Amino acid sequence: MTTFDEAECLKTNPFEGDFGSPGDKVLKDKIGTARKGGTCGMCRQEIVPGERVRLLAAVFDGTLMSYRWCSECCAAMAASWTDNGDAWTARARLGRESSNAKVRGPEAALSPEAPSRLPGSTPGDNEERTGNA
Ligand SMILES: [Zn+2]
Repeated sequence: MTTFDEAECLKTNPFEGDFGSPGDKVLKDKIGTARKGGTCGMCRQEIVPGERVRLLAAVFDGTLMSYRWCSECCAAMAASWTDNGDAWTARARLGRESSNAKVRGPEAALSPEAPSRLPGSTPGDNEERTGNA
């Protein structure tokens, strides 16, 4: 299982440049242990129960969104401070090329955009539902 520097991972903003609408706010952003399997919001690979994952819940445009990132992607986030984001870019590419990924246009597939609103992270597919507590 991949281990990573959790503090370094959390310092990374996965929504680079796409997080600034008035009213947007992060409700939760932490490293936790996945209690059930699922799909990583970034690389679209499987998350294994017991894996250390980054959990993030936020309100975007008035909608509660929740995300999980697998330990590999967390490691890539932590590494992004020293590798110019190369590992992160590779994880994003993996996600775009994954059969789990939603098919978008070829332009989208080639776009080197920073990870932004991650598709496929449906609320309800997350064991860490954040209510209005
Ligand atoms: Zn991942």
